Amino acid sequence: MESSSTIARKTWELENNILTVKQPADSSSDNIFHYDGAAHAKALKEKTWATNPNYFKRVQISALALLKMVVHARSGGTIEIMGLMQGKTDGDTIIVMDAFALPVEGTETRVNAQADAYEYMVEYSQTNKLAGRLENVVGWYHLHPGYGCWLSGIDVSTQMLNQQYQEPFLAVVIDPTRTVSAGKVEIGAFRTYPEGHKISDDHVSEYQTIPLNKIEDFGVHCKQYYSLDITYFKSSLDSHLLELLWNKYWVNTLSSSPVLVQWRLYCWTNIRLG
Ligand SMILES: [Zn+2]
Repeated sequence: MESSSTIARKTWELENNILTVKQPADSSSDNIFHYDGAAHAKALKEKTWATNPNYFKRVQISALALLKMVVHARSGGTIEIMGLMQGKTDGDTIIVMDAFALPVEGTETRVNAQADAYEYMVEYSQTNKLAGRLENVVGWYHLHPGYGCWLSGIDVSTQMLNQQYQEPFLAVVIDPTRTVSAGKVEIGAFRTYPEGHKISDDHVSEYQTIPLNKIEDFGVHCKQYYSLDITYFKSSLDSHLLELLWNKYWVNTLSSSPVLVQWRLYCWTNIRLG
């Protein structure tokens, strides 16, 4: 019989439509897991994205990277934590292989948060290159707890800086509050337009449920960026790691579920009043 954790993981994979891709023994160039240094150097030289602001259209995220971001998101509570994503590009697609947390709060209300976050991002990608890691930092992710996946004014300027100095670079936003534990992850992937770029109204990001206090920020900046289509993949070799991480996530999710929190509060109140 399958454990509840396994059932939950399978539900999560189905809900997010995670496709299993074959990982052949020989690293052929059409293999998503193969890192092609020459192709990367060529893409960097051609910089097709510099002449076409809508060049990147798709994002493929590994299930492992997605789960790491969700675990990180869950640990943050209502704090707007952030992290980086590693991967590569393939034509108009940005492929995210891995993700890791940064030791910085990316909150949009704290003074200097943006500068701190940006400094960390640059530092990490440079250290990473020095350490000889093949995959490059291809983007950053941060959280919008309870207010949906879009870019605020501050996010837009951070992402514009990134696209000037760290290309190819992607911005991902996750809403942990609107993400159901074993359900679909509330996530958005975005690229900003260069300063002064004009777009037609039908290109404005899809409808969002946004709290009143954020609507102005959304409205003022929603024409400065666009959304990319996101799909997910995993390989048979990822499965074991994915399972280990899932089990940890699932135990933590259960132990912090609202029912248990309420029950603890109830007990505590009873002890106090009793
Ligand atoms: Zn934000």
